Amino acid sequence: MRILILGGIGEAVTLARTLAPVHAVTYSVAGKGRAPDLSCSVRSGGFGGSEGLALFLREQRIEQLIDATHPYAAQISRNAAHAARLAKVPLWAYRRPAWRPQPGDDWRFVADWTALMAALRKFQRPFFTIGLEPLRHWPDIPPGQHWLVRCLAAKAPATPHLTLLCVTGPFTLEQETALLRDSQIDALVAKNSGGGAVEAKLAAARFAGVPVVMLERPVLPTVEREFAAVEQLTMAL
Ligand code: NAP
Repeated sequence: MRILILGGIGEAVTLARTLAPVHAVTYSVAGKGRAPDLSCSVRSGGFGGSEGLALFLREQRIEQLIDATHPYAAQISRNAAHAARLAKVPLWAYRRPAWRPQPGDDWRFVADWTALMAALRKFQRPFFTIGLEPLRHWPDIPPGQHWLVRCLAAKAPATPHLTLLCVTGPFTLEQETALLRDSQIDALVAKNSGGGAVEAKLAAARFAGVPVVMLERPVLPTVEREFAAVEQLTMAL
């Protein structure tokens, strides 16, 4: 079968590795990071919206589209749903189960940036681990607040009220605990990315008694079949 996997997360790579020996698989990434080393065809870069993706599906005679993107990558998931309808290709999705708070966690869920800022009002030293968005909002840093922003790569804005930390994970519990302590963090801002183990930063926040302001997941489109485990999806093909 001719399959297009929209990827960008570890489980999508696993999916491609499992399906490639039996199917004609194309693995697609946005092109922001390093493309994975795969034996199947790897495509890097956007399609040009849902119309472009529909065109690709038709031209490549794709018979099965699989959305295995990150739960916060809502645009590409919306594009996939629209393109699948346009090109009349069945769409399945791997959707990572969300993490759930454990005893001792203090998670405060917020729906958007405005709610996030309101939730952070009484904190002085929040630590942002949600990608690049905080960098766009640095002029709004409230007086008396200092932001620590961790991301893969970015240019630091010209303000003494924000420290940029460009590093690639994963990080150990010891590293995260030391960072929270040494940077005197009083709130952690995170996404509920989900997946295997709860990230070390969330465990570190629990042990340190640091509240987590959790950006809620975007609502993703309905698909024909949805899987919470990669093995279930591969077995269904
Ligand atoms: P997004 O906002 O949903 O998508 C933005 C645009 O990037 C899409 O419209 C599409 O461009 C292109 N794109 C995204 N994923 C693609 C893919 N797999 N193949 C081809 N084009 C893709 O996505 P994002 O949040 O920037 O995430 C980009 C990638 O990083 C995704 O593959 C995602 O799985 C991965 N990722 C995201 C996060 C996160 O927190 N958002 C975390 C870890 C990994 P066109 O409209 O031109 O087709």
